[in-house]
Amino acid sequence: MNAPFSASPHEGEVLDVAVVGAGFAGLSMAIALKKAGRTSFRVFEKAADLGGTWLFNRYPGIACDVPSFLYSFSFAPNSGWSRSYSPGDEIWRYIKRVSDTYGLAPYLRFNARVTRAQYDEAAQLWHVTFATGETVVARALVTGMGALHVPSFPAIEGLENFIGPKFHSAEWDDDFDVTGKTVAVIGTGASAIQIVPQIADKAQQVLLYQRTPAWVLPRMDRPTSAMMKALFRHVPLLQRLYRAWIYARMELRAVAFTVWPSLMNRLEKLAVAYLDATVNDPKLRKELKPNYTIGCKRVLISDDFYPAMNRKDVALVTSPIREIEKDAIVTEDGKRRPVDAIVLATGFRVTDWIPGAQIIGRGGRDMTREWREAGSARAYLGTVTEGFPNLFMLLGPNTGLGHNSIIFMIEAQTRYTMDCLKWLWSGRAGSVEVRTDVQRAFNERLDSQMRRTVWLSGCRSWYLNENGTNSTIWPSFTLSYWWKTHRARKRDFQLEPARTPV
Ligand SMILES: Cc1cc2nc3c(=O)[nH]c(=O)nc-3n(C[C@H](O)[C@H](O)[C@H](O)COP(=O)(O)OP(=O)(O)OC[C@H]3O[C@@H](n4cnc5c(N)ncnc54)[C@H](O)[C@@H]3O)c2cc1C
Repeated sequence: MNAPFSASPHEGEVLDVAVVGAGFAGLSMAIALKKAGRTSFRVFEKAADLGGTWLFNRYPGIACDVPSFLYSFSFAPNSGWSRSYSPGDEIWRYIKRVSDTYGLAPYLRFNARVTRAQYDEAAQLWHVTFATGETVVARALVTGMGALHVPSFPAIEGLENFIGPKFHSAEWDDDFDVTGKTVAVIGTGASAIQIVPQIADKAQQVLLYQRTPAWVLPRMDRPTSAMMKALFRHVPLLQRLYRAWIYARMELRAVAFTVWPSLMNRLEKLAVAYLDATVNDPKLRKELKPNYTIGCKRVLISDDFYPAMNRKDVALVTSPIREIEKDAIVTEDGKRRPVDAIVLATGFRVTDWIPGAQIIGRGGRDMTREWREAGSARAYLGTVTEGFPNLFMLLGPNTGLGHNSIIFMIEAQTRYTMDCLKWLWSGRAGSVEVRTDVQRAFNERLDSQMRRTVWLSGCRSWYLNENGTNSTIWPSFTLSYWWKTHRARKRDFQLEPARTPV
């Protein structure tokens, strides 16, 4: 672990790049910078270690839901993944190993929460301020602050009065022992369905509070055989082919998600058949069956969730929660169920965009305020946005995925950002800003593409903000995103000459 953040890198030094966040995104950027031979950069991370999602989420059963051989950097293959969907701590160890391999430690600054970044138009520099009040100055700012990392807490009356252990799934209390306890899990999203089967064995009873059921498909998770690991270790090409095959298989699903949502019917039939075959009680089956098109909310994959729901010591509660008392949960049907602990598997504040940090661009423009007032986050290729020169966002608006690995998008954005940064480094430009008309035309196309996707087929999901706008998901193939980002085009940008020597 690195020393705590202290002051700027060197007194008076102007960094080439300040990267915010040390998850997959920030580290991808740091690696690209190192590969390009740049050393004047730092990665500022508010946590005490790297890993982002895979540092924070340590709940029982945590694993990726995109196969590990794809959910990893393309340039850092790992032949040793233990399972098709490896557990969270293994993913964290992978990230750490990659960081070590690329010698990133000297560039990482932990316990460094960025609270504000302001662009100085005259000097063409970003001033980055930390929670401690310290500042650093950089020519370019790259945010890799994550979309799924600020927990969303439900507004349930009396939640604060509960006296037993209660925590969000992303803030799992390692000291909490479920043995013999009655545990309430609130929420039925990706985390909840991983947690319930894992704690059911030890807990006396698990009560799963469901607002909306999720579509669940079998995960078909299995250990990676020793033979496969050895083959991949000795013949790396085989692993690359395997990765490409997984990618292609997942990418094909974009046809149904984004082009012909009617194709989702086939997937829905599969999900219904799986539900019917695994859940024994017809009443429970009915309660677990969603009434919206599959894919509209994130499709979940699990081999052990439905079997866990068959257990006598696991109960599904579908009546909405009315209030929480000091030791019980009361639902609208008047039932009061005593519980020892509450796990809030209630997801993240996804549509808030850059919560916790204020980004001020040209002419004092406040990014989050503008997006809020516009009713939606807007950018060009989810990476750059007009009014904010020399700012690059990794996993910015409309770059999330419902069908493939997000790391593919991160790598595409990293390459694109590097192209733009090279214009700055060459001395040909002091600032790079996407043209307003280019961004507007891009978003008009994006909106019209979005309209025919399954995500706008009528359900309420975390992909949508309160206006029903989807500014989280890329509404097309990842391959088309790759094509659009494989090279940054100068004609899309306004390049201002450098006002100070680079
Ligand atoms: C439980 C879970 C499972 C997931 N599984 C998958 C999966 O299987 N496949 C998939 O494609 N995606 C998955 N995701 C999405 C996942 O978030 C991304 O795959 C990926 O980890 C995102 O990386 P990131 O670096 O963009 O964000 P993060 O991993 O969230 O990292 C962002 C980092 O920025 C830091 N940060 C934020 N704000 C500040 C600030 N103001 N100052 C300093 N530092 C800051 C955070 O502390 C964090 O370390 C999952 C997400 C969760 C929560």
